[in-house]
Amino acid sequence: MARKESKSTTRKPDWTPDDAGDAFATRIVPGVGAGAAAGAAPPDAAAAPARRPLTTDEYVSGVIAGDRAVLARAITLIESNAPAHFEQAQDVLRRLLPYSGRAIRLGVTGVPGAGKSTLIEALGVRLIERGHKVAVLAIDPTSSLSRGSILGDKTRMELLGREPNAFIRPSPAGGVLGGVARKTRETMLVCEAAGFDVVIVETVGAGQNEVTVRSMVDFFLVVLIPGGGDELQGIKKGIVELADAIAINKADGENKPRAEVARAEYNRALHYLTSPTEGWRPRAWTCSALTGEGIDALWDVVLRFHARAAETGALDARRREQSRDWLHAIIDEQLRALFYDRPAVRAALLDIEAAVMDGALPPAAAARRLLALLES
Ligand code: GDP
Repeated sequence: MARKESKSTTRKPDWTPDDAGDAFATRIVPGVGAGAAAGAAPPDAAAAPARRPLTTDEYVSGVIAGDRAVLARAITLIESNAPAHFEQAQDVLRRLLPYSGRAIRLGVTGVPGAGKSTLIEALGVRLIERGHKVAVLAIDPTSSLSRGSILGDKTRMELLGREPNAFIRPSPAGGVLGGVARKTRETMLVCEAAGFDVVIVETVGAGQNEVTVRSMVDFFLVVLIPGGGDELQGIKKGIVELADAIAINKADGENKPRAEVARAEYNRALHYLTSPTEGWRPRAWTCSALTGEGIDALWDVVLRFHARAAETGALDARRREQSRDWLHAIIDEQLRALFYDRPAVRAALLDIEAAVMDGALPPAAAARRLLALLES
C-alpha cells in the first residue's frame, strides 16, 4: 500500500492532504486516553496507513452515523485554511445542517484558574452518566501565538477525555478571533449532527472572547471565584452582563463562607442589570467543581432555562438571530480582507496613513480615497 512521506518535521497530521500546502494549519494535539498517541508527537507516518481523501458523501454519512474518526476528519477539514478545502467543508456543513441544532449549547467563561476545566469535567462526567453525549470545544485565539495557549497546553479534562461519549477539541490554530470563532461554530454544528446533545464551548474571560462565545451558545455560564481579585471587577462587569448564570466556584473548605458572601453580592448586582435573555433572571450559584457539590443544581438551572426559553420562543429567536449575526460577521471579515488584500490599497495605505497622522488629510477623506480604490 502506498504510504505518505513522513511529515513529522512539519508536525502535520498524517491525513493532511498532499495538495494542502502550508496553509493547512491544523496541529497535532496531545491525545488523551487509551489508544491515543502519548504526548504531542505526531503519529508515525510509517506506522499509520495512508489516508485517502474522503468524499463529501462519506463525510456526511460518517458524521451522521457518529463515526468519531470521520467526525475528527470533518473538523480537520473545517479547520483547514487551504482554499481547496473550503468548498468541500461548506458542502459537508450544508448537508449536515438539517441534523444539527438539537443540542443544548452551553458557553463557559472565567479567568484562568477559576476552575473552568475542572467544572466542565465534573459536569461532563455527570452528564455522560445520565446518558448524554458531550462535546467540549475551546475558543482560544492565543493558542496560535508563540506565547502559547491559555486553555490548550496543559493536560486538561483527562477523565472526560477517556469517556467514549465525550469529544474534546482544543481551539483551532488560526490566528484571529473571527476565524477561530467561525471554525468553532461550524465544529459545533458537526458535533451536533454526530449526535452530541450537549455542546460546551469554553473560553478564557478576556476581552472579546466571551462576546464571541455568547453569540454562539444558548446559555452562558460565568465562572467566578470568591475574592478572585477585585482588580478584575471591570472585566467582570462586562462579562456578568452577558451571563445567564454565575457559578461561584471553589465553594469548599474555608472558602465556603466567602463564596456565600460573593453569591449574595452578585445576586444583588445582577438585580440591577438587564438580563441578556428575555423572561429569564440570571442568578448566582455556589458550587465546588472539586467536590461536585452544586454541580447537579447548576445543570438543573441550565435545563430550566432551556425548557422555558423553548416554551417562550426565546431559544428559537436567539438561534435565528445568532445565525443572522454570524452571516454579517463573515461578510464584515471578508470585506475587510477584500479591501486590505487589494494591491492598490496596499500600495497607497502607508502614505495615506502618514498623511492622516501628520494632520494633512482628514481621516474620513482618507478613508473615502482608499475605499475608492476598491473600484479601481
Ligand atoms: P481553569 O484555568 O479555569 O480551567 O481552571 P482549572 O480547572 O485548571 O483549575 C485551576 C485550579 O483550581 C486547579 O488546581 C484545580 O484543581 C483548582 N480547582 C478547580 N475547581 C476547584 C474547586 O471547586 N475547589 C477547589 N478547592 N479547587 C478547585
